[in-house]
Amino acid sequence: MPLLANHIAVVTGAGAGIGRAIAAGYAREGARVVVLDINMDAAAETAQQILNAGGKAESFALDVTKRNDCVAMAKQVADRVGAVSILVNNAGIVGRNGMTGADDAVIRDWENIIAVNLNGVFNVTHAFLPALRANKGRIVNIGSIQSFLHLRTPSSPAYTASKHGVLGFTRALAAELGKDGVRVNAIGPGFIETAINEKVRASNPELVKTFLSHTPLGRTGKPEDLVGPAIFLASDLAGYVTGAILMADGGYLTV
Ligand code: NAP
Repeated sequence: MPLLANHIAVVTGAGAGIGRAIAAGYAREGARVVVLDINMDAAAETAQQILNAGGKAESFALDVTKRNDCVAMAKQVADRVGAVSILVNNAGIVGRNGMTGADDAVIRDWENIIAVNLNGVFNVTHAFLPALRANKGRIVNIGSIQSFLHLRTPSSPAYTASKHGVLGFTRALAAELGKDGVRVNAIGPGFIETAINEKVRASNPELVKTFLSHTPLGRTGKPEDLVGPAIFLASDLAGYVTGAILMADGGYLTV
């Protein structure tokens, strides 16, 4: 029996990278996947890939920063797809401007990153919460190494603050929703090769080398490296796991 049979799983930011890989992995484990992304075409492409592989998927455009749209999406998914039991809050963006950069750049980073990475997680979770509580749901939030420390990749303080916030939100929700049988966990990816860090990888190979010298497994991650942890946390295999963050960082945080 596949690990996620009979589940309906919503994945945000699933038009690319880690979200796309998790959506595909969930479909392989029998879930019907609701692919959401700010980019409609990218979401549709992920859903098509899942359908082509014999899985079940639908796609919708959703900008997680738009609270009312999140509420409308939860209703639309309930009406058109069914009762959601898994939510992966994956949509996220980065910024590279430090606090001492140009004012407009620092402020833009702060507002945009907090809007997507933190408010977006709240908006989508709040919108789908009635369904998740009714279905003993599972929430998987995508944190980061930067849920614990600041990386000078370079990275905006807003990104570090947002990912610390995602971990805090994960723990708060786990504490509050345990009585409803809802489990809430996070995954902490390390350096995963996606569009989010494409420019850094191309422009600063030295930085990647430095990062890898601090990574016991000695390689960067691929989106597929997140799939196993995401399936585990959403499945009954993790039935007594809540409030945890599962690092998928090649061991970065251990050294
Ligand atoms: P990615 O390849 O850029 O994918 C992110 C997806 O989210 C894109 O499809 C993006 O669409 C979408 N998105 C952006 N803003 C959105 C919004 N407002 N509403 C809905 N969707 C939105 O990045 P990724 O590396 O897979 O990142 C996924 C998650 O992993 C993020 O939370 C990121 O912080 C986290 N993470 C990544 C790494 C890493 O090394 N890659 C490490 C730690 C944590 P557009 O492309 O159209 O903007």
